[in-house]
Amino acid sequence: MSSDTPEEIVIGVLALQGAFAEHQAILMRLKLPSHPISPLLVRTAEDLAKCAALIIPGGESTTIASVAARTGMLQLLRDTCRDPSKPVWGTCAGCILLAKEATGLKKGGQELFGGMGVGVRRNGYGTQLESFEVMLDIPGLRDPERPFAGVFIRAPIIEHVDTSAPSSSSIETEIVARVPASCLPAELQEAAETSTTDYTVVAMRQGKKFVTTFHPELTKDERLHEFFIKRCVLELPAGK
Ligand code: GLN
Repeated sequence: MSSDTPEEIVIGVLALQGAFAEHQAILMRLKLPSHPISPLLVRTAEDLAKCAALIIPGGESTTIASVAARTGMLQLLRDTCRDPSKPVWGTCAGCILLAKEATGLKKGGQELFGGMGVGVRRNGYGTQLESFEVMLDIPGLRDPERPFAGVFIRAPIIEHVDTSAPSSSSIETEIVARVPASCLPAELQEAAETSTTDYTVVAMRQGKKFVTTFHPELTKDERLHEFFIKRCVLELPAGK
């Protein structure tokens, strides 16, 4: 192999439940000239050990957590998500699992993996009936003037962003996308207009961790996958 052969990046997709095949399909399509991407479905510790990064898909956070517990993966996933050196992206249910704390959880409680300094409200927009799609302006993407279709299905709401924890003081927090306040439930709209960091945030990066409360994997747009790999895995500066 010649020294200028680009190194392949293995991106794991947690495949316990939910939209993992859709993430895998986008990663298979994604072409980064500098780095070939190789997706790997992760179900065991051996799978995870092969990955440079992990994506936790949308689906049902309670089910993903209980399958993780049943298959002996829970502690390993917690350790991975809480390790600042490991790139992890959670979409929708994955965002709930990555959150440090959550409200509106299943009766009797449910396990979270943690790692991301956010508090989320599960099913914050309401039931399945309150699912919606909205075009998002995301300045950090390639071709930023082309909006990104935000698909929100029983999505969580980010209630607060924690930038004050001592362990995260050297970790940069980047608000990547917001929804218009008009998308929020009526009782949160006024609060959202006076707040600077919460409720309307729907995509956020904290060091190598990334959450989106919506489902980029259910679109044909691979630009947020590209964003995750460039900013969280390769740690390229914005705009590269
Ligand atoms: N409300 C779901 C949960 O608690 C998330 C929904 C989704 O991922 N579309 O996991």
